[in-house]
Amino acid sequence: MVESKEELVLEGGDSICFACHQGLPCFTRCCRDVNIYLTPYDVLRMRRALGMGSSEFLSRYTRSFLAKVTHVPVVQLLMDPETLNCLLVTDEGCRIYDDRPWACRMYPLDINPRKPGSYRLIAGADKCFGLKEAQSWTLKEWLSSQGIEPYERMEALYQSIMPAGFKPGGIMDAGLGKLIFLAYDLDIFMEMVKDPKFRKLHEISEPEFNEAMSNDEKLLELAFGYIKGQLEELYGLA
Ligand code: SF4
Ligand code: SF4
Repeated sequence: MVESKEELVLEGGDSICFACHQGLPCFTRCCRDVNIYLTPYDVLRMRRALGMGSSEFLSRYTRSFLAKVTHVPVVQLLMDPETLNCLLVTDEGCRIYDDRPWACRMYPLDINPRKPGSYRLIAGADKCFGLKEAQSWTLKEWLSSQGIEPYERMEALYQSIMPAGFKPGGIMDAGLGKLIFLAYDLDIFMEMVKDPKFRKLHEISEPEFNEAMSNDEKLLELAFGYIKGQLEELYGLA
């Protein structure tokens, strides 16, 4: 059993005591004044839950930019400028709980950058009272209960679009950063792919196109494939 305190690492068969519910004094405090960086799959799930397109979601709920120096796209969830609350929090909890982003699912855990496959506690029981609850989970049970699997699968695909030779934190041309941003703003990519000339040029078959038009996840996978192909061609030239 791993005791609940900051910076403890969980891996393999470790377990954690945790339960988050409305009766806790900290309920929704973790949805205030936080830096949450979104992945393309987070944006897909959130904008779909809110019943809006990616462009509208990005402009209403996020601040997006290309990182200084590296030009990698960054999409940050906005907080209310007056209350500092997340724009999606209510007294009852998250408005889009089933589609909340990866970082919110994982809290109070995060990936441990020092050891792949392990996780670390980023808040103690003094802040996250759920860690004082009796319900016990193995790490595997915890990840499954939080619905992490599709997020990890999509994130692995996203990471695989980076050109060989590009190291995390490395510098890329701003044009390439804008190209990667298409994975966040699938409305734009959808318009591109609707053009038969575009599909012919990039060898997108009709079955692939039809599937992507009716399935958001397939559209994102198609965007990843397109971006990867373009990056491979352009990276060496940039
Ligand atoms: S601080 Fe922890 S227990 Fe409290 S609401 Fe957030 S996740 Fe739940
Ligand atoms: S998206 Fe939902 S869970 Fe995440 S900070 Fe906002 S209200 Fe909280």
